Amino acid sequence: MSTFDNLPLTKHLRRAIDELGFVKPTPIQEQSFPVVRSGADVVGIAQTGTGKTLAYMLPILQDIKFQDIDTPRVLVLVPTRELVLQVVDRINEFAQFMNLRVLGVYGGTNINTQKKACAQGVDVVVATPGRLYDLAAARALQLKTIKQLVIDEVDVMLDLGFRIQLANIFSILPERRQNIMFSATMTEEVDALIDAYFIKPKKISIALSGTPLNNISQECYRTRNFYTKLNLLNFLLLDKEKYSKVLVFVPNKKHADMVFEFLEEQYSSELCVIHSNKTQNYRIRSIKQFDEGINRILVATDVMARGLDLHKISHVINFNTPVFAENYMHRIGRTGRAEEKGNSILFFTDKEEVSKNSIQSLMDYEIPQVDFPEDVIENEQLLPEERDIAKISKNRSTETRKRDDGFHEKKDKNKQINEGGSYRVKLAKKYKKSQTKGDIIANRRARKKR
Ligand code: ADP
Ligand code: MG
Repeated sequence: MSTFDNLPLTKHLRRAIDELGFVKPTPIQEQSFPVVRSGADVVGIAQTGTGKTLAYMLPILQDIKFQDIDTPRVLVLVPTRELVLQVVDRINEFAQFMNLRVLGVYGGTNINTQKKACAQGVDVVVATPGRLYDLAAARALQLKTIKQLVIDEVDVMLDLGFRIQLANIFSILPERRQNIMFSATMTEEVDALIDAYFIKPKKISIALSGTPLNNISQECYRTRNFYTKLNLLNFLLLDKEKYSKVLVFVPNKKHADMVFEFLEEQYSSELCVIHSNKTQNYRIRSIKQFDEGINRILVATDVMARGLDLHKISHVINFNTPVFAENYMHRIGRTGRAEEKGNSILFFTDKEEVSKNSIQSLMDYEIPQVDFPEDVIENEQLLPEERDIAKISKNRSTETRKRDDGFHEKKDKNKQINEGGSYRVKLAKKYKKSQTKGDIIANRRARKKR
């Protein structure tokens, strides 16, 4: 068995690893170590939850030189502000017995405070691309001493449209540097970026992005529509013991707000939500409260939750079926982190079955289907986008991996909701509330549009 003994770690790093309770390196960690240390450009591909942060930080920290300069030697770029905070925390853990100055910078907060922090002296900078460039342009952060550049979650970075910002950053970095890139998937855009900026990169690829994580048990429910999904979700969450820490994925921020609003009645004190329209502070607070177990349920869009390492998530619930099969892999990778047991539940409608099939063929695994619980009301009410099949197939292309701005807004005349008694209200005492709450949201939305 491979252990950390096989890696020639400094005693400070070894102590930190022991302190963290890590027994053996993950495959990506083991394989990256010599390659990153060789100084060559590196492209590392491994699924979410396989320990990529340590895979690049361990060799970097092993060889980092303590020089008498205050400008950074290492730059780590990540796509979201939340990830900046998380990666900074991680590095501080790994380097807890070293005298390392780690600074995180990201947009949406006061740049002057960050300028002052830069002036204090820093060894490793973790940043989102936009803010990093602003700080460099303002000469608050000197990049000419950077020896190693890490781009983490590079595929998300490109999906979020950071290509130009990355090019700008490349143009101001010293030419002699090591480029290291880590990603869960390899896309054409990632390939193009490597071609343009990397020199003879060494590639470490651990598992195909479609390989199912075998410590995650998967299930699916065939569901009629959005409102039925709400009732089902509400029902499942009643079992607090089983569903002890639940991440609910929704396709866009509109749905995030609707799901949140619906669940709020029953679960208000246990519930939080993140999407790109929430303020930075709100997002940070939500993630913290969820991670610490203060809130049991987090509703999130794909982009917001990508890459976040949240502890001991009992269940990932896919409220919708991702159109891009790889997104499903990223979602379920939020549970069953680093060999813990995890659970994933997928809700799919008839229209989403195509997507479910492509997920299954990517994984080469059929997700076991669970019977729809008798106690849950099947609501026949439809969202506008569910009512118009033609529109749906057009909208599919908007529910891309690119960004989380959701479905295109429809013309007003298409937004009306059919309230003309087209749905049967089955009365089940226990879940009556869920039913009405769904109706309330729908009616409220319909009213707003008039
Ligand atoms: P990725 O970036 O690949 O999604 P992370 O770097 O966020 O993965 O790590 C996922 C989780 O695994 C973290 O909670 C981390 O502390 C844990 N972890 C990392 N390396 C090891 C290891 N060698 N042994 C046990 N747990 C580890
Ligand atoms: Mg990561």
